[in-house]
Amino acid sequence: PRTPVNVTVTGAAGQIGYALLFRIASGHLLGPDTPVRLRLLEITPALGAAEGTAMELDDCAFPLLAGIDISDSPDVAFDGANVALLVGARPRTKGMERGDLLEANGGIFKPQGKAINDHAADDVKVLVVGNPANTNALIARSAAPDVPAERFTAMTRLDHNRALSQLSKKTGVPVAEIRRLTIWGNHSATQYPDIFHAEVAGKNAAEAVADETWLAEDFIPTVAKRGAAIIEARGASSAASAANAAIDHVHTWVNGTPEGDWTSMAVPSDGSYGVPEGLISSFPVTTAGGEYRIVQDLAVNAFSRPRIDASVAELADEREAVRALGLI
Ligand code: NDP
Repeated sequence: PRTPVNVTVTGAAGQIGYALLFRIASGHLLGPDTPVRLRLLEITPALGAAEGTAMELDDCAFPLLAGIDISDSPDVAFDGANVALLVGARPRTKGMERGDLLEANGGIFKPQGKAINDHAADDVKVLVVGNPANTNALIARSAAPDVPAERFTAMTRLDHNRALSQLSKKTGVPVAEIRRLTIWGNHSATQYPDIFHAEVAGKNAAEAVADETWLAEDFIPTVAKRGAAIIEARGASSAASAANAAIDHVHTWVNGTPEGDWTSMAVPSDGSYGVPEGLISSFPVTTAGGEYRIVQDLAVNAFSRPRIDASVAELADEREAVRALGLI
C-alpha cells in the first residue's frame, strides 16, 4: 500500500472544516488510490469540537483514512505536511478596521508560515482559504523563506466555479462544455471574472453572450457578491461550496488541468500581465505533474484591463498595509 499523504487542515472545527474533512478522508482530494493522514489544527478552545469531528470521521470507517492527529500547536500540526489547507482565520467583525483585521490575521498566518517552513515536508503545497486569503497567503509565504514561494497559493476556485455556473445558466450550455474561464486578482468584491477567452460549446463565450450590459451589470457583480447573497438566503455562509472549491483547487494542482482548458488560482506573480511580482493574485493557470504555470500571452482588452488593474491595486494596498504592520 502507498504511504499516506499528510494533509494538515487549520480551523478544522469550523463550518468549512466540517464540510471539507469528510471529502478529504473519502478520497476526493487526492484520488481513490491515495491514503491520507489528517492533521487538524485548532485554537485551544475548539479542540473539543475538533475531537468530536474526529469521532465522526472514525465512524465513517473510511478505507483511505490512515489516521487523525489533533493539535493546537502549528509546529505539531504542520509536521510532515504534504498538503496544508489554511482555513481558520479571524473573520471581520462589526466595527473592525481593515488594519485590525490584517493584524489579527498576521498573528495567525505568520506563525503558521514559520511552522510550515520548519516542519512541513519538502514537497508541501499550501492553499489559503481563510480571508483575506490572498494577503494571508502572502504573510505565510513571507514567513517561510526556505519553502519555494510558488507553493503558497490562495483560493479563487469558488469564484471560478460560480462564474462557470452563471455562464452555463446564461448560455444554456452545460458546465462540462465551458472552458478557459478566468478569475483575475483578489478574492474580494474587486475580483474580475473574465469570459473573453472562455469557450462555450467550442464558441467564444463573449461572442456567444454578445451582451456587455449583462456582463458588467449582472454577471460580474453576481459572481463577486455571491457569498453575501448566500448568507442572506441561508442565514449562514457558503461553507460547503467553499470546501468543494478547496478540494477542486488541490485536486487540479496535483492531478493536472484537462488538455485545452485551464483553471484559476491565486499564485505569487512573476510579473505576468503587469501584476507586480510577489503579489498573490489570481491568474489563469494550467497544471501538470504537480506544478502550475500561468497561462501566457492572452490579449487583455479594454474592458478587462481596468478591472484587472483595480483588483491588483487592492492587493498592492493590502501588501503595503501588512508591510507597514511589520507582518512581511
Ligand atoms: P468558516 O469555516 O466558515 O470559514 C473559515 C474561513 O474561510 C473564514 O476566513 C472565511 O472568510 C473563509 N472563507 C473563504 N471562502 C469562504 C466562503 N465562500 N464561504 C465562507 N467562508 C469562506 O469559519 P468558522 O468560523 O466556522 O470556523 C473557523 C474555525 O477556525 C474556528 O473553528 C476557529 O476556532 C478556527 N481558527 C483556527 C485557527 C488556527 O487553527 N490557528 C486560527 C483562527 C481560527 P470570511 O470570514 O470572509 O467568511
